[in-house]
Amino acid sequence: MATKRVMLVAGNWKMNGLAAEGHALAQAVAAGAEGVGCELLVCPPAVLLSTAGAALSGSGVALGGQDCHPEESGAHTGDLSAEMLADAGSRFVIVGHSERRADHGESDALVRAKALAAHRAGLTTVICVGETEVERDAGRADAVVAGQIKGSLPEKATAADTVIAYEPVWAIGTGRTPTPDEVQAMHRHMRAIVSGSHGAEIARQIRLLYGGSVKPGNASELMALEDVDGALVGGASLVAADFLAIAGCCA
Ligand code: PEP
Repeated sequence: MATKRVMLVAGNWKMNGLAAEGHALAQAVAAGAEGVGCELLVCPPAVLLSTAGAALSGSGVALGGQDCHPEESGAHTGDLSAEMLADAGSRFVIVGHSERRADHGESDALVRAKALAAHRAGLTTVICVGETEVERDAGRADAVVAGQIKGSLPEKATAADTVIAYEPVWAIGTGRTPTPDEVQAMHRHMRAIVSGSHGAEIARQIRLLYGGSVKPGNASELMALEDVDGALVGGASLVAADFLAIAGCCA
């Protein structure tokens, strides 16, 4: 039986905001969330989970972490477990963001271990993939993304516990995006890869987000693409009106 994919717009605040700003931003998102035709997710820095969570309470906007450690607890100074994120009110966690892959040398195997830990803790993962500019220019974008999906998704991942975000590294924070045709072609390719690894039914149901310089001005054409099920938004998620305007482009 066909189930319609519910669109998801996720805000990745990255390492931005102190408590007062985070609270105000989450409050403004909560205030504008009613009637938005998609699911909304806010991923603040970990220290703002509680203040943002309080501001979002009762709004239906979900809270998420930006990363987690593969283990449940232990001697890992500075890290956070998926269980801690869940305990702080998170329902989602981003794993494998390109900034973590680049800044912290995260491999596909580590991303997969983090996703497994998140699923164990009851969190839905937003697993990020995407090619660099050099890889795209060399004609390797499809192969890179296929390898990341095969290497990062747990074997038992389902459409209920996993979302994949396609974020070309060269489009993040640059104001550049692939053309709508290129985004649609990559998302169709991603669905085919998931079909091969996890089966046609999961491929049909899994949500594929586009991320990389999504703004109110380009969201409509990107969100209208057949295989795009929402957006992972960085910079524009720091302005509530922009984030909500992007969400408003999702029917
Ligand atoms: C991101 O880093 O997840 C992202 C999509 O950033 P931006 O929207 O700023 O390009």
